[in-house]
Amino acid sequence: MRRLLLALPFALLPLAIAHAADEHDHGSLGAHVHGVARLDMALDGRTLEIELDTPAMNIVGFEHPATTDADKMKLALARETLLKPHGLFSIPEAAGCTVSKQKLESPLFGHEGDDHNDGDTDEHEHEHSEIHGHYQFTCSVAAVLNKLDLTQLFKSFPATQTIQVQLVTPKRQMGAEVRPSNPVVKF
Ligand SMILES: [Zn+2]
Repeated sequence: MRRLLLALPFALLPLAIAHAADEHDHGSLGAHVHGVARLDMALDGRTLEIELDTPAMNIVGFEHPATTDADKMKLALARETLLKPHGLFSIPEAAGCTVSKQKLESPLFGHEGDDHNDGDTDEHEHEHSEIHGHYQFTCSVAAVLNKLDLTQLFKSFPATQTIQVQLVTPKRQMGAEVRPSNPVVKF
């Protein structure tokens, strides 16, 4: 995925670099703005890959560890929605895509091999929390895929106002800013 993104036009590179650096330093790059999410999509042969990075605020309305029952419930429901990527990303049935890999990561979900704190207790790391979803599909009729429709994602998580999309397909590489009023990117 990242290898593919390196082929993007120069104007999009800062976002890709911020994306890579983000794994080590959540929040402090200023890339995390509430209401704004990032989505990278790559279609390569029969493989469709989607990475979603979003402030937890957009998904559950808070970024602190869930302590109350209400918070835990919100988190569980969000997780359930995020683990149904066909619906979330409106993947057409005709494309015959099956999920070959999916992974959710967030400090809010507890430690899932994502302990990036190198013994350094930096308080800033706890001010913001992101949710990261990584999905990989194998599609038997990939030619059917000609658009990315984020309608359901905006509906499921209405605190999301903008999604910065980067996509790479055999036909094109492009970036787009997607909003609820215009949730489809054709490619
Ligand atoms: Zn935040």
